[in-house]
Amino acid sequence: MTITAIVGANWGDEGKGKMTDVMAADSSYVVRYQGGSNAGHTIINPFGKFALRMLPSGVFYPNVVNVIGPGVAVDIDVLLQELESLTVRGIPSPQLRISERAQIVLPVHRMLDELEENRLGTRSFGSTKRGIAPFYADKYAKLGIQISELFAEDHLRERLEHLLESKNIVLEHLYGQSCIKVEDWLSKLSEQAEAIAPYLCDTTSLLHKAYRNGEGILLEGQLGALRDPDHGIYPFTTSSSTLAGYASVGAGLPPYAIEKIVAVTKAYSSCVGAGPFVAELEGEEAEKLRSRGGDAGEYGVVTGRPRRVGWFDAVATRYGCRIQGATSVALTNLDVLGYLDEIPICVGYETEGEVADEFLFPQKLSSAKPVYKRLPGWKSDISQVTKMEDLPEAARGYVEFIESEIGVAITTVSVGPSREQIILR
Ligand code: GDP
Repeated sequence: MTITAIVGANWGDEGKGKMTDVMAADSSYVVRYQGGSNAGHTIINPFGKFALRMLPSGVFYPNVVNVIGPGVAVDIDVLLQELESLTVRGIPSPQLRISERAQIVLPVHRMLDELEENRLGTRSFGSTKRGIAPFYADKYAKLGIQISELFAEDHLRERLEHLLESKNIVLEHLYGQSCIKVEDWLSKLSEQAEAIAPYLCDTTSLLHKAYRNGEGILLEGQLGALRDPDHGIYPFTTSSSTLAGYASVGAGLPPYAIEKIVAVTKAYSSCVGAGPFVAELEGEEAEKLRSRGGDAGEYGVVTGRPRRVGWFDAVATRYGCRIQGATSVALTNLDVLGYLDEIPICVGYETEGEVADEFLFPQKLSSAKPVYKRLPGWKSDISQVTKMEDLPEAARGYVEFIESEIGVAITTVSVGPSREQIILR
């Protein structure tokens, strides 16, 4: 069995949840290794439709061990609500293990995220206000709280007091809010600690044993390559690395253990939040694509906001696959394009009178104009097709053209949101 990372090649929302749900059938472990409750993975399977924000996408298979690694921003409230909602909907209790080293999102993180977005007004980043940026800022400023610290009361009180010293100054003087006292949090944190205690363990040892025993492990990324803080469209990025390279760190496995890296990309582009988006569509054309995209239109899973949409961007996706180190690609949402007579693909960026086929620095991206190649559409419903050879010629041509542009083999094509709507090449 192999260790495989499933990651996004673009802005996120590429359909990683669906791909993880499909691939989890042959795995023993599914691991979340970064990010928090700020993005949802949509899964449609025989149990119904779900939007998982904290739980790994393997929770629908009773034999799969689902792991939340040390790199994740754990929002305990969201995690417990999600577990509860699975029970209510009749899903057998999943096997869940949470790293004792993972840190928790505190109420002050969510508060600061919201206050700062409001303060920024028109300059805001379009944060989902789940506290993720303040959480990771505190983690790297050594102010964060690891889950294991919740079980040592005096130590916890001291650490929270240390955190609140600086937070209260900002709350009071920058945002005009009242100060927070440690006592406001202690009893809730102790309840939360008790609730998650049965799931805690040393997940690094657990995964090392699984790796040595040759068990199948899926590492499930959140968001996409263009949201990576180092390689993405900074500052319109998220606050933890979205790259497969980080999966070994955030999960706790040797870097050389990851053999396969599946980059997921949509057959068109979508983006939630602010920042340059070269192949973006506006007006009626955008609305037509948005209303047909995904399983119920392109609207954010966490926020319900309309997603920005555009044609497939070969320049951005080639770059996304490269920085992910993709060994193969899963192309999703191909069925969505069945209404078009012809389908533009962005193959270059025009900037300062020249056409670039390499992804550009964020400042240059904002003024770049897309250069399109138009491919014939197939004008039919392909959502029940299960073999490549049964796709209309134009749909096959579309897949092959994208493959030649991005330079990575497309081994899976998804033609609908459900588990079984999949073509393996
Ligand atoms: P993730 O965060 O990468 O898992 O992606 P999201 O769940 O945020 O968004 C992907 C959207 O596409 C969801 O609405 C999925 O149900 C939907 N989806 C995934 N694959 C397909 C597909 O092949 N066709 C269609 N029509 N929808 C798909």
